[in-house]
Amino acid sequence: MKRVLAVALVAMMSGATMSAQRPQGTAPPPAAPTGVFADTPKLGDYKKDATRGVDEMAKLAQEMVDSVFSFGELGFQEVETSRYLTGQLEKYGFTVQRGVAGIPTAWVAKWGSGKPVIALGSDIDGIPQASQKPGVAYPDPIIAGAPGHGEGHNTGMPLNIIAAIAVKRIMERDKLPGTIMLWPGVAEEQLATKAWYVRDGVFKDVDVVLFTHVGNNLGVSWGEGGGNGMVSVEYTFEGETAHSAGAPWRGRSALDAVELMSIGWQYRREHLRLSQRAHSVITNGGDQPNVVPRNAGIWFYFRETDYANIKNMWDIGNKMAEGAALMTNTKMTSRILGAAYPQHMNKAVAEAMYENIKTVGLPTWSEEDQALAKGLQKELGNPRIEGLALKLGNLGAPNPERENTGGGSDDIGDVSWNYPTVTLRFPSNIPGLPGHNWSSAIASATPIAHKGVVAGAKVQAMTVLDLLTKPELVKAAWDYYNNVQMKDVKYVPFITKDTPPAIHLNKTILDKYREEMKKYYYDPTKHKTYLDQLGIKYPTVRTTSSPQQEK
Ligand SMILES: [Zn+2]
Repeated sequence: MKRVLAVALVAMMSGATMSAQRPQGTAPPPAAPTGVFADTPKLGDYKKDATRGVDEMAKLAQEMVDSVFSFGELGFQEVETSRYLTGQLEKYGFTVQRGVAGIPTAWVAKWGSGKPVIALGSDIDGIPQASQKPGVAYPDPIIAGAPGHGEGHNTGMPLNIIAAIAVKRIMERDKLPGTIMLWPGVAEEQLATKAWYVRDGVFKDVDVVLFTHVGNNLGVSWGEGGGNGMVSVEYTFEGETAHSAGAPWRGRSALDAVELMSIGWQYRREHLRLSQRAHSVITNGGDQPNVVPRNAGIWFYFRETDYANIKNMWDIGNKMAEGAALMTNTKMTSRILGAAYPQHMNKAVAEAMYENIKTVGLPTWSEEDQALAKGLQKELGNPRIEGLALKLGNLGAPNPERENTGGGSDDIGDVSWNYPTVTLRFPSNIPGLPGHNWSSAIASATPIAHKGVVAGAKVQAMTVLDLLTKPELVKAAWDYYNNVQMKDVKYVPFITKDTPPAIHLNKTILDKYREEMKKYYYDPTKHKTYLDQLGIKYPTVRTTSSPQQEK
């Protein structure tokens, strides 16, 4: 609560115009306390126990990964996914609170008592139009047009659950104090919940947040990452209907306003910074051609590298919408559907986690795994047919020499500006994919995903054990957060205390496909794996010499 108040106060004082980030190109902050503290022999044993525990749960990991994959639900509609995951957590002794922050599919699961409180999070939502048979290295939907896990968000929460169970067993046996909390990134693809969780105190009393996200290697980084923060805003226009042929002069077209705003933005884009990414979809284009559209809407993502520039783009968008309303004599309203701060990850925790990454190392890939990866890379026409990762990357650190040229966003950014946070990347996907696409679903319910989750769960469990048994690490994490990260910066949220979560999103898509999708839910009591249930030979790769020919 204290933090929420402080944030609100800062927002009032700043008039929400101050920069929340250092200007680009300035040197990184001075060196912070390291997070590498030697393990006691006892902690070494705990980590071995946790590793063994995770290996013993490999079957459970596979079942959870495959189940969530088969649900394939979009943001705010993760009904089956949340029911299933909370059910698993309750089965293993966690206490679940549902519907947090006014979001029906959001929840928090807790076990243990006292400090430290370690919060394990990961996203759970899918991608529109990404239905895809796993293990098949070309476009082959389970249900054409349906959503699916075209980013691999089915893997992260199973990873956290396995890690949490492994650590819980050690805590119970040796009576270690501390609390493990698990929480899902609902509607991450809409960047639409984590700022709301922060605002509503979901992380109250949390000491460290260990987030995890699927990748194609095992890794972690600290400092300001590349990529952008963003705001997501829907503009709606209201005009008047009329017979489009009989009396068009009596109508005022909301669709005209949408089109004018859209084309205005395309002209303006030339005069925006290179790091900006802005994109839109028309959410409502009217009803039918012979009725002048009374209502129309356009939904923009405005992305930039820092608070001030995001705010600036949002202001430009607002002006343009006002202009479009003036030109068409329509009425404009707008609302925030999502928001994400640029990310800043904790140095001490990242360093501690990286030590565990080096201990765990990459999974051993089979010939079949590599054949799937290479088959897909060939299918996509990638210049490099690299297969799966064979070498760990370095600990990621800020590079002041390299300008941030922009990119995607993750609303874990908002969490990272309020609590010491890192994101563990784990190798459950294939390198070289475009993202948000059917191709990212191919590995997500195969041995590649299963092995990546097991490796990641070991790292996550070992890092939780570090945090539970080394108070000096938690202290170093907060030292970095307070004295380096927040030294000249204040967190000014894009949302206000009244901004509602956009829980209506994606309902129509799921209403359309859910009944059909239910037929393909994974049943682990009948089938060893989801590949078995679907009758897919692993791997299935194209044998023609010209993989692009059928496109
Ligand atoms: Zn994601």
